[in-house]
Amino acid sequence: MLWSKIFLPTLKDTPQDAEVISHQLMLRAGMIRKVTSGIYNWLPLGLRVLKKIENIVREEMDASGAQEVLMPMVQPKELWEETQRWKKMGPELLRIQDRHDRDFCLGPTHEEVITDLVRNNVKSYKELPLNLYQIQTKFRDEVRPRYGVMRGREFLMKDSYSFNINQDSLNESYLVIKETYKKIIDRLGLEYKIVKADSGSIGGDASEEFHVLAENGEDTIAVSDSSEFAINSELLLNEGEDINSLEGKPSPDGNGIIEVKKGIEIGHIFQLGKIYADAMNANVLDNEGKSQTLYMGCYGIGISRLVAAAIEQNHDEKGIVWPEAIAPYEVNIIAIGFEKDERIKKTALNLYDKLLSMGYEVILDNRNDGFGKKMKDAELIGIPINIIIGKQYTENNEIELRHRDGKSSIGMVEDIETIFDHYKSK
Ligand code: ATP
Ligand code: MG
Repeated sequence: MLWSKIFLPTLKDTPQDAEVISHQLMLRAGMIRKVTSGIYNWLPLGLRVLKKIENIVREEMDASGAQEVLMPMVQPKELWEETQRWKKMGPELLRIQDRHDRDFCLGPTHEEVITDLVRNNVKSYKELPLNLYQIQTKFRDEVRPRYGVMRGREFLMKDSYSFNINQDSLNESYLVIKETYKKIIDRLGLEYKIVKADSGSIGGDASEEFHVLAENGEDTIAVSDSSEFAINSELLLNEGEDINSLEGKPSPDGNGIIEVKKGIEIGHIFQLGKIYADAMNANVLDNEGKSQTLYMGCYGIGISRLVAAAIEQNHDEKGIVWPEAIAPYEVNIIAIGFEKDERIKKTALNLYDKLLSMGYEVILDNRNDGFGKKMKDAELIGIPINIIIGKQYTENNEIELRHRDGKSSIGMVEDIETIFDHYKSK
């Protein structure tokens, strides 16, 4: 893509109403624009990142044996009355009426719709376990939408639901998804903790959250400095303990000392047990032909929140430093004097074509700006590799390869494949 053609409105100054760094950088890097409170447009650069995360999530969910479906965003009141959640959800549930004055809501989550689907179409234990997922826009009328897409009202989630014949099978499905989430976050290149959690208004038994550790996290978690132990302060509060009295004490698992950290919840897995299936009469026949209530699990990943969380964890004072797997482009060719110097133009276009044919995702900065402005924008949008074709090329035939994380090397255009091989092997 030529930079001059991309809809990429970068901003020089930090927007006034953005409190956290990821929100500021997403606005400045031209990734998102606000429509109204908690509701955003995704611009091309932002959408590329969102889609990359979505694809990694989809690949790993498919590999886990889950199957993708797509449920409606608009859901009828009747289903929500079966679980009493039409009342329980309160003002977070956005309610609407159709032309016949019938009540609906915009889906904040999909337990009711999916349980209805399964109770009507699955009859025997032989069809279980079943794990269905979707990647879809959710709506929650959050009391305090803030931090950009980190806590939006409209946001993209991967939600999945397992249906099992008994508790053992539910345990297995839960563990498969837990492992799948680890793979996903590892592939995204983020550091995280798995945290014991409160199961909140969804209800149910076992529940764990995946947290990306970051200073601007809204959650406070207690973690051991030398083991996997981690627990959400919300859960401690339920147990009548204050998180601040924990700091510096031995970890309850006997390993290490407790540290109090901030985390961004990017995923949540629950064992729901039989509560939804009981409320909605979702039964199947077991191997003796007897009717059994289904066991369920539900598992969510905040795809749009992950974009913000990745930036919270990967930035410096100049801008975003994308982990390779989710960078909107892999290479940015910065051609200085593209429109004025035929030789630079030709070399830049040749290199651009060559890298494209090698399979790289490339952006070519052909704008009519100087080195300073182009480099500032490059650092702001955080593409991992920048290739500079400018003065050094005119004078010594050299191009510079400048890594977003600081490393740089000089070489000839002809050597680009070698340079890339070297880079890739690191
Ligand atoms: P939170 O405690 O942050 O309000 P939640 O516990 O209500 O989240 P879940 O119902 O567990 O959220 O939803 C699954 C995932 O969806 C969360 O782990 C989070 O990543 C994402 N998510 C939830 N609410 C929002 C929101 N308002 N904006 C963006 N992502 C969200
Ligand atoms: Mg949660």
